[in-house]
Amino acid sequence: MMKSPNSRNASITSKGQARGRGNPAPAISGAGALSPQEVTEDRALRPTRVEDFVGQEKLKENLGIFVEAARRRGDALDHVLLFGPPGLGKTTLAYILAAELGVAIRATSGPVMERPGDLAAVLTQMTDRDVLFIDEIHRLQPVVEEILYPAMEDYKLDIVIGHGAGSQTLKLTLPKFTLIGATTRTGLITAPLRSRFGVDAHLNYYQASEMVRIVTRSARLLGISIDAAGAEEIGRRARGTPRVANRLLRRVRDFAQVKADGRITQSVAENALLALEVDGMGLDPMDRSILYALIDKFHGGPVGLDTLSVAVSEEAGTLSDVYEPFLIQSGLMERTPRGRVATVMAYQYLGREAPQRAPELFGAAQ
Ligand code: ADP
Repeated sequence: MMKSPNSRNASITSKGQARGRGNPAPAISGAGALSPQEVTEDRALRPTRVEDFVGQEKLKENLGIFVEAARRRGDALDHVLLFGPPGLGKTTLAYILAAELGVAIRATSGPVMERPGDLAAVLTQMTDRDVLFIDEIHRLQPVVEEILYPAMEDYKLDIVIGHGAGSQTLKLTLPKFTLIGATTRTGLITAPLRSRFGVDAHLNYYQASEMVRIVTRSARLLGISIDAAGAEEIGRRARGTPRVANRLLRRVRDFAQVKADGRITQSVAENALLALEVDGMGLDPMDRSILYALIDKFHGGPVGLDTLSVAVSEEAGTLSDVYEPFLIQSGLMERTPRGRVATVMAYQYLGREAPQRAPELFGAAQ
């Protein structure tokens, strides 16, 4: 069950530097950029068929019905909004949906489209029933988002060309396409945008048994030798997130090659993860740094996101999208209207005595 991290605290990072509490190592589970080799491997690992997409059973079942119905009608699938923390399979699912529909997919992301013309250029290249995938759709510029509304609703595009007196409005009719939007942050999607999606789909953290299947599948695809206990050890510590599992698997493989005979067993995985500072619950140095800050600097909270972000030197967006959902899911932190609060479990996790306080300070009140 709960393990105090203290026994694992005096560890060494993969770069061999001892790290103190106030100076967390770059977290293995974070949103950090992948190396070019990792990008290639990541692509190789991405399931392309629904049979290979592990877990999310209810969601797959529902989406399967919508896809089948659209196919029978010869119609485009209704617009789909995918929610969930990074690395849970939103992009993968969008590609699988397009494949199941038997149509082409174009992928872009909210921050890439700076002007209405950028969106118009993508939309006008689509053909009937194609899928447009917009990752991080909550980061669309308002001017771009506005032209998306009539495009989604009536398949019409109104764009203004030029400035001032000489400007012209161009009206185009678009093919009937499906927009699949992905977001890590439900709260930041504007109401008008959200209301234009016919299907809302939430991806949840994966179960331990599903994580083991993902690790085993990835190991097979990468030609890594691993036994059942090794896969279980990695799966258990991958915070219910396939991308983290794949990343841990690659790092543990490195340890297995250098420190063992190349095969990942439970003890190889355990030692490698200890060196990577990923503990038995899957918490990494940044998670622990957040909990230490909450408890030591802010007396358990409540504390605002921005203040916490300064205290741990991590972007507020990354904190709220990547770290907090898992800490909340693990029962270590709560978000209350007054700010972030450490739970009694967080005190236990750090081996601290929880102070006697009013219950609402521990997040009982929402
Ligand atoms: P997101 O778009 O939600 O950030 P991705 O779709 O990019 O996540 O998934 C990250 C990686 O995790 C993929 O490359 C894929 O290898 C793996 N992955 C995600 N979901 C699954 C799944 N359900 N089954 C197996 N592997 C998965």
